[in-house]
Amino acid sequence: MGEIQLNDVTKRYGDVTAVDNMNLDLDDGEFICLVGPSGCGKSTTMEIIAGLTMPTDGSILISKQDVTNLPPKDRGIAMVFQNIALFPHMDVYDNISFGLRLRNYEKEEIDRRVERASDIVQLEGMLDRMPEEMSGGQRQRVAIARAIVRNPDVFLMDEPLANLDAKLRVHMRTELQRLHKELETTIVYVTHDQAEAMTMSDRIAVIDSGELQQIDPPLTCYNEPSNMFVAGFIGSPSMNFVEGTITEHGFEAENFDVEFEPSHLDVSLGDDITLGVRPEDVYPIDAVHSLARPTEEIAAVSDVLEPMGDEVFVYLKLEDDVQTQIEETVSNDQLLMSVEPDSLIQEDEPVTVVLDRSKVHLFDSVSGTAICHGLTPAISQR
Ligand code: ADP
Repeated sequence: MGEIQLNDVTKRYGDVTAVDNMNLDLDDGEFICLVGPSGCGKSTTMEIIAGLTMPTDGSILISKQDVTNLPPKDRGIAMVFQNIALFPHMDVYDNISFGLRLRNYEKEEIDRRVERASDIVQLEGMLDRMPEEMSGGQRQRVAIARAIVRNPDVFLMDEPLANLDAKLRVHMRTELQRLHKELETTIVYVTHDQAEAMTMSDRIAVIDSGELQQIDPPLTCYNEPSNMFVAGFIGSPSMNFVEGTITEHGFEAENFDVEFEPSHLDVSLGDDITLGVRPEDVYPIDAVHSLARPTEEIAAVSDVLEPMGDEVFVYLKLEDDVQTQIEETVSNDQLLMSVEPDSLIQEDEPVTVVLDRSKVHLFDSVSGTAICHGLTPAISQR
């Protein structure tokens, strides 16, 4: 029960391919986030699972049954959407139990289910409240309780927290995780917010232009992104990307080199390569002792500092010649570095940095595909 399979699912709207040959295999009880930028096809994928949209091609299985031609009500699913459509003239009890009453459930059974659902979403004592007397978060919990009472095999949630303020959204994330733990039901959750996906999911399905880019546990997507799209989309602030080429000594960019044995990788001399490194894997030289395998030193100048409280983001301008006077350095190349809050770095001063070699990613600049995650040093340096 609760498994979902999408087999070669495509959805076209005229010239637009909203979903492009999507294959998904979701286990029973998994919390899966479909994540990607606006317009990438997340909602269409969800609507196809729900039965609200017919695919142009492909088939959908829910709980091992082919539901491609079944209406939503026969698919064993319950949906929660961004716009919480509660009946304004009904109290919480009536809103939660509406679907059950429509299906002529016994009063006792309805009471039992409403009690359990309101208990799970912590709405006890509020069953006689009207929607207008409740906060946005409470109303969203009513919508979730209304889905719970249906005992679905699968919950489908499309940006259910998008209309809540930032603090409540973070709180509701924890509540949804608790809900998932309690119900052990498959949850497919659509969001454009990578932080939401990172914090809640068992696996994240990253989608771009209707195509599945990667489906993996959050930390795998973070540490071993399959391509530059996933690398840039997952993680905030984004991964730094620096374009360069493969030489016999390793990677060479306009402003710095990273030495390694190219023969150890699936690359050829002259290949256009993009180096990726996350801000937390860039270190000022005075912190290099904490690194087992730093790269060669990179000369930079601090530009803007953004103190976040628990860390400081330092925007670095890369010098193309260490001998050049700082005032004369003209470079559009930047690296973002995250440092400890007690760092002494000031704006507009020379800063020498290194990268954590084990956290350097290389991508094919043309296809964007990942070549490696982590570099071993050149033989001469070992
Ligand atoms: P997301 O949920 O990731 O923001 P959608 O699934 O809503 O993306 O949309 C994917 C693409 O399909 C977009 O280009 C969108 O404009 C298009 N699209 C979605 N629904 C329709 C529709 N009913 N008619 C025409 N185009 C649509």
